[in-house]
Amino acid sequence: MPERVMRAAVLKEYLSPPVVEEVPAPRVEGPHEAVVRIVGSGVCHTDVHVWRGEAEAVLDIQLPLILGHEPSGVVEEAGEAVPEWLKPGTPVLVCASGFCGVEDEYTLSGRHQLCSKPEWPGLSRRQGAFAEFLHVPHYKYLIPAEGVEDLAAASLLTDAGLTAYNAVKKAAASVRPGDYVAVVGLGGVGLFALQLARRVLAARVIGVDISEEKLEFAAKTVGLGGEDLLVDASKEDAEAAIMGQTGGRGVRAVLDFVGVEQTLEKYLPLLDKTGVYVIVGLGSPFGPQIPSLDLILGERSVLGVLWGSCSDLAELAMLAKAGMVDYKSIVTRRIRLEEVGEAIERLDRGEVLGRQIVEFKP
Ligand code: ZN
Repeated sequence: MPERVMRAAVLKEYLSPPVVEEVPAPRVEGPHEAVVRIVGSGVCHTDVHVWRGEAEAVLDIQLPLILGHEPSGVVEEAGEAVPEWLKPGTPVLVCASGFCGVEDEYTLSGRHQLCSKPEWPGLSRRQGAFAEFLHVPHYKYLIPAEGVEDLAAASLLTDAGLTAYNAVKKAAASVRPGDYVAVVGLGGVGLFALQLARRVLAARVIGVDISEEKLEFAAKTVGLGGEDLLVDASKEDAEAAIMGQTGGRGVRAVLDFVGVEQTLEKYLPLLDKTGVYVIVGLGSPFGPQIPSLDLILGERSVLGVLWGSCSDLAELAMLAKAGMVDYKSIVTRRIRLEEVGEAIERLDRGEVLGRQIVEFKP
């Protein structure tokens, strides 16, 4: 086969913008493999941690690295064992949480994000999705996306959407329709969580942030009901607002997308007895301290969420096709590959509403 090249944004040095250059394009070598032509690739806050050099040990990062782990695209090449329904030309969402060469009880039950040796593209795997093509080691990581209206924007479903969906499902056992769920931190993932808590759990929601712009953006895009509430914790007494809204009972679940000591300290006591606190954000390097007295006295629990499974991504794709999750409104900026560095810096400065995506136009 002739050597093929592609354009990719390569991180060569921490805190420097990734360099766009031509690198060898991946090819299919084994029967179960595929190569996807990238259409959309979301810029995630984890990219900021990697770019700053803060994620080396936790995520097994090595430079040079092509960043990008939130991809959608079209099957370009498929090995001979790839089924007909994923033939070249098929639009797909790539389940990047799942790349894993290990078979154990977690991966065999579909929870590939719990792999003991994860090969996440753009993180522990050095070829990511800020590139024209992505190698996918097995077709089981591809979710068909026919009928998904805006394939570039739908890239968000594979990480921001999937993580929020996993968090909402973790809270489901503690939440009945009409109960209150608080979502702390209204970046891209938190916006998905507000939508999904309302539509999947039929919960009433309380969105909390310290940025007026982020709260305004949530009010504009999420479509909140009369009994939902947004709280500006930089100006209001969040405790009084949340206890007032819930009639003194507290919320049945907190989904914490910030994950620092202050959020846990402040919002865990606002949980109803037997409620659940779901930690998604890893805002401080060693994680927050758990106030165990609040857990014991109210039989409350704290859970962690890591990305999501490929079967959850398939469910989320169905919800998107059915119009139950609005991923398009979360995309606020569509950029070219050359602008990845600026996009990461903007995110680092906290200036991004919703989510930015790299869009590849044919
Ligand atoms: Zn991410």
